[in-house]
Amino acid sequence: MKTIAWVLVPLFLTSCSIPFLNKAEKDMDVCAIKEFNDVINLFPKTAEEINQRVQNLKIEVKSAVQKIIAIPNDKRIFANTVQAMDDIGVLSSKTMSPIGLLREVSPEEPVRNASYAAILEWQPFAQEEVSKNIKLFEAFKAYFDGNAKKEKLNAEERYYLDETMKAYVREGLLLSSDKLEQVKKLQTELTELTLKFSKNIADVDTRITFSKEELAGVPESVIASLKKDEQGNYLAGMDYPTVFPIMKFSTNAQTRKKMYEAFQNRAYPANFPVLKNIMNCREKLAHLLGFENYVAYDLDNTMAKSSKNVQELLQDVMNRARDKESQEFKNLVTDVPSSVELTEDGTLLPWDVAFLKEEYKKKNLAIDDKKLTEYFPVEHVIPTVLSIYEHFLGLRFEEFNCEGLWASKLNCIRVYDNGRLRGFLILDLYPRPNKFSHACMVDVVSPRLINEKIVCPALIAILANFPEGSKEFPGLLKFGDVRTFFHEFGHAMHGLLGATQMHGFAGTSVKFDFVETPSQMFEEWLNDKDVLKKLSHHYQTGESLSDDNIEKLIELDKFDAGDRYLRQIGLSLFSLQLFDNSDHDIQEFYKEIMTFTRPNIVFDDKDHGAASFGHLTEYASKYYSYLWAQIYSMDLFETIKKQGLLNSEVGKKVAHEILSKGGSVEPAVLLRKFLGREPSQDAFLRHFGFES
Ligand SMILES: [Zn+2]
Repeated sequence: MKTIAWVLVPLFLTSCSIPFLNKAEKDMDVCAIKEFNDVINLFPKTAEEINQRVQNLKIEVKSAVQKIIAIPNDKRIFANTVQAMDDIGVLSSKTMSPIGLLREVSPEEPVRNASYAAILEWQPFAQEEVSKNIKLFEAFKAYFDGNAKKEKLNAEERYYLDETMKAYVREGLLLSSDKLEQVKKLQTELTELTLKFSKNIADVDTRITFSKEELAGVPESVIASLKKDEQGNYLAGMDYPTVFPIMKFSTNAQTRKKMYEAFQNRAYPANFPVLKNIMNCREKLAHLLGFENYVAYDLDNTMAKSSKNVQELLQDVMNRARDKESQEFKNLVTDVPSSVELTEDGTLLPWDVAFLKEEYKKKNLAIDDKKLTEYFPVEHVIPTVLSIYEHFLGLRFEEFNCEGLWASKLNCIRVYDNGRLRGFLILDLYPRPNKFSHACMVDVVSPRLINEKIVCPALIAILANFPEGSKEFPGLLKFGDVRTFFHEFGHAMHGLLGATQMHGFAGTSVKFDFVETPSQMFEEWLNDKDVLKKLSHHYQTGESLSDDNIEKLIELDKFDAGDRYLRQIGLSLFSLQLFDNSDHDIQEFYKEIMTFTRPNIVFDDKDHGAASFGHLTEYASKYYSYLWAQIYSMDLFETIKKQGLLNSEVGKKVAHEILSKGGSVEPAVLLRKFLGREPSQDAFLRHFGFES
C-alpha cells in the first residue's frame, strides 16, 4: 500500500518548498512527529480540547486492547500480541505526555487544571484497562507459554518479553484471584500510608523563636526573610532556605542546637507509627508476591539486583572512605571557633558539623559566590554547553524559531545525527508565574527505532528557572545552575538518542539505579579545567575564570568527601535494611547505623530523623541508587577523559553503545561492553582519595 500511496503523491507539492519526499520519509508516517508542525499539534490549546483528546484516547486504547484479546491463542505472534501491547504505550503517551507537560508549564490556569484532571482520570483507567487487565495479561501469558517458545525473536524482543513477565509477577497477576485482591488492598493501603508520611513532613509548621542576637552570624538577607512575632522576635521555620544558613552560619551554639533538634524531629512522633505500618504492609506484600522480603521485591527490577550486591559495594566504599574521613576530621578540628566545643573523647556535636565545615571553607577554599556568578552569564553558558554536547556526541544542533507552543521565549533546537533528524529539543529555561519551580527533563515523545533506515524523532523539553537577562544586565548563573543545566542536558541526550524498537525501553526508561548514570557522568565535565575555561566568560571583560579559582572549584567538589559519603552510606544502609524485616525498632536501628557509619559525630538521642526521611516512600529501599549511579558514572567518565572530553570519536561511542540503547540492554552489559572490562568503583575511590 505504501508504494501506491507514494506513487500518488502529486508532483506539484515539490514546487512549493515542501521537501521532496523520499521513501524513508514517507515511511516516517508511522512516527508521532516528523516536523515542527506536528510538535505544535501535539499540544491541546484549551481545556475542552484536553478533555476531548483524553476521551478519544480512551476509546482507541479500549479498542486496541480488545483487538489483542480477540486473537486466538494459536495465532499469537510477537507482533500482534507483545508489540501491539507496547504500541498502546506509544498511543497513550502521544496524548498524555504533552498534557502532562502542559500541567507544569502552561501559563493558562484552565489548561493546567484540565491537564491535572485529565491525568487523574487517566491513571485509574490505564491501570484497569491495560496494566492490570487480567484478560490482556492472559493473552500475553498464552503467547509467553506458547508460540513465544517457537518464534524467532531478536535479543531486544526476547528481553522485553522476559522483563514484561517479571513486571506482571511483581504486580501479582500470576496469583489466584483472592490473593490478587489482597495485593490490591495492600497497594491501596500503601498508597494512603506513603501519602500520609509525605504529608506529615510537608505539613510541619514548627517555628523556633530567636532574638536578633541569637541569630548572630546568619546572613542579613536570611534574617530579613523571617516572620516576626508580636514581641519582635524572629520565627525560623523548617524550610531549607531558613534551616541551612542558620546551621552553617550561626555563631551561637544554642541557636544551632535548637534548630538542629527541631529539624531532626520534623513529623515526629506522628510518622513513626505510619512508617511501622508501611514496613508491615510492604513485608506482607512481598511475601504474597513470593519474595523473601520487601528489599528482594524492591530490588528485583534494578541494576543492583540484590541487597547483597548493594551492601558489598557500600561496605567497601565505607571501609575505604574511613581514612580520608579521619584525616579530614583532624583538619576540621585543629582550629575550632569559640562557639564549638568538642566532647571529652574528641568527637563533634551534630549541630556543630555544618558550621565547622563552613568555617573551614571560609579559611581554606574561599570563593566569592557573587563574583563567581559574573563569569557565568546565561547567554554564554547555554550555547557553550550546547556546543560541548554537540561536538562531543558528533551531532548537529540547529536552532529555530518555534512560535506556537505554550509560551514565548523558548529556545528550540533540531538535532541531527549524520544528516538525519533525531529530535526536537525545547528549552524552557526562565521563570514564569505558575511554572514548574525546579529543573527537569521531560521526554514528551520518545524516539523509536522502526528499522535500520527509520528512526522516529523524539521531543524533549528541559525546564528550569534561570535568571533571565535584560537589555541592561545579563542573567547570571550560579555555578550550581551551570551544573544543573549540564546534568539535565545529559538526561535530554539520553532521552533523545535512546531509540529502541520497544517503546517501553526508549530513552531514559532504564533501571531505577541506572537512570542518573549518564547525566551524572556528563556533570563530571564540570570538574575539568579546560571545560571550565570554555564555560566561564566574565559578563563585562569576557575573561575566563583564573586558574586559581578553577582549582578551588574543583577542590570544593571533593571537599568533605569522607564524611559526606559516610553519611550517604549510612542513609543508604538504613533505607536498604529497614525494609528487610518489619520487626526493626525504627529508632534503635537508625541510631545503630548512624553511630556506626559516622563515629566522629555524636548521635543525639533526640534525633528522630527517620520520621522525616522522605525518600523512604518513593525510593523505599533504593536510596543507595544515588551513590550507585555516581560510582558507575565516574568509571565511565575516567575512561572517557583519558581519550578526551571533547573527542567526538569516543563521544559517538558513548552515544552508540550507551545512550542509544535506552533500557533495551542490562546496564551492566552496556558498561562492560563500553569499558571492555567489569565496571568498578575504583575511579570513584581514586577521585575522592578513598584508596587504602
Ligand atoms: Zn538527574
